[in-house]
Amino acid sequence: MRNLKWQHLLYGLFILSITAYILFLHPQLQDTQKQSDSASQQHNNKAASDSRQQKQPATPPPPTELHLMAVGDIMMHEPQITAGKTATGYDFASFFEHIAPTLKQADFAFGNLETTLAGEAARYAGYPMFNAPDELADALKAAHFDVITTANNHSLDRWEKGLYRTLEQLDRVGLLHTGTFASKEARDQPLIISKDDIKLGVLAYTYGTNGMPIPEGRPYVINMLDESLMAKDIQTAKAAGVDMVVVAVHFGPEYWRKPSAEQKRTVDFLFNAGADIILGSHPHVIQPYEVRDITNLDGSTRKGVVIYSLGNFISNQRDEPRDIGGILSVKINKQNGTATIGDVSFIATYIHRYQTANGRVYNVLPIAEVIEKRNYPPFRPADYSKLEARYQEMMEHVISEP
Ligand SMILES: [Zn+2]
Repeated sequence: MRNLKWQHLLYGLFILSITAYILFLHPQLQDTQKQSDSASQQHNNKAASDSRQQKQPATPPPPTELHLMAVGDIMMHEPQITAGKTATGYDFASFFEHIAPTLKQADFAFGNLETTLAGEAARYAGYPMFNAPDELADALKAAHFDVITTANNHSLDRWEKGLYRTLEQLDRVGLLHTGTFASKEARDQPLIISKDDIKLGVLAYTYGTNGMPIPEGRPYVINMLDESLMAKDIQTAKAAGVDMVVVAVHFGPEYWRKPSAEQKRTVDFLFNAGADIILGSHPHVIQPYEVRDITNLDGSTRKGVVIYSLGNFISNQRDEPRDIGGILSVKINKQNGTATIGDVSFIATYIHRYQTANGRVYNVLPIAEVIEKRNYPPFRPADYSKLEARYQEMMEHVISEP
C-alpha cells in the first residue's frame, strides 16, 4: 500500500516535470505550439468568412491508410558473408528476392540491422563482433526496406567509428534510420515518417551493447532502454504533431518463446507513456503479438499493438525455431482527423539455407505463400509438408497469450 502511494507520488512528480519542461524549458516546442496556434486561428477566421460567402458544408477529407510492416533481426553470420561473395565483391540481393514482393506491399517496411557496416579495413566478421560488407545496405534497399533501426547489442561491434560508418552506408542507399546517431541534434529529433495525412514518430532503444563502451562524453550515439529518456522522446514526437508513435525495443532473454516479466513491464511502461506500436527484437525466436486496449490519462481508450519478438529475419542460426521469423503487418487508418489501428496480421517467414556446387544459398521465404503455390524449386514434397506443420504451430504460437 505504502509502495503504491509512493508510485503515485513519483508518477505525479514525473508528469509535473514533463509539463514544466514543455512549458518553460523547451523554446523550440513553445515556438511550434505558438505557430500552430496562430495558424489554426488564421484558419478559423478564413473558415468563418468562407462560410458566410458559400454556406456549403465542407466535405470531410477521405479516409487514408498507412501500411506498416516490420521484421526482426537482420543478422550476418560469417557463412552468409561468404555466400554473398562474387568475382568482384559482394551481392546479398538474392537472399531477399522471394520476400521482396511482400515487403513492397508496405508503405514503410522496418527492420533491425544487427551488424555494423564498418568497411573492409575493419575486417568483415560474423559472431561475436559483426561487420558486414556495405552491399548489405544495397540489398536491403532493393528488398524494399524503408526504415532501419540500429540500436542493438551489436551497434558498437566496431566501436564508435563503425557506428558512424554504418549510418553513412544507410544514408548512401537512402534508407531511413534511427536508434544510433552521429550527433546530439540528430538524437534529439525523432524520426518522423508520413504518408498522406498520417504521421508517425519512430524511436528505437537497446537493452545494452554487449559490454562495448559507450563513448565518453557522447552518450547520444546510442539510445539505451532508459525509461525517462523514452518517455521524454515520446512526448517530443507527440509535440511534433505525429498521429502515432512506433517504438522498436531490442530486449528480452535470447531464445525465450514467451516474453519475460521484464519485457512485459517495459511494454506496459511504453504504452502508458504514449507508444502505439511496439516492435520487439533480440530473442532470435518469435514471441507473441497482442492488440491491446489502452486507457489514456483522460479516461478515453486507444488501441495499441505489441510484438514482443519478431525473431530472425535472416541469419545462419539453424536450430528450430530460430530459422523462422516473421513480418508484423499493421494498417493505420485515419478519418476525420483521428488515426486508429486497423488490420493487424503476421506473415511467417522461413530462412532456407542449402548447398549448391557454387556454395551456400540463403533465401527468406513467405511460408504460407510457398506452401500454397508450391512454387519453390529447391523444395521436395517432403519439405513442403514439414514446413506446413511447423507453420501451423508458429501461427498458433504468435497469437497465443504472451
Ligand atoms: Zn540482439
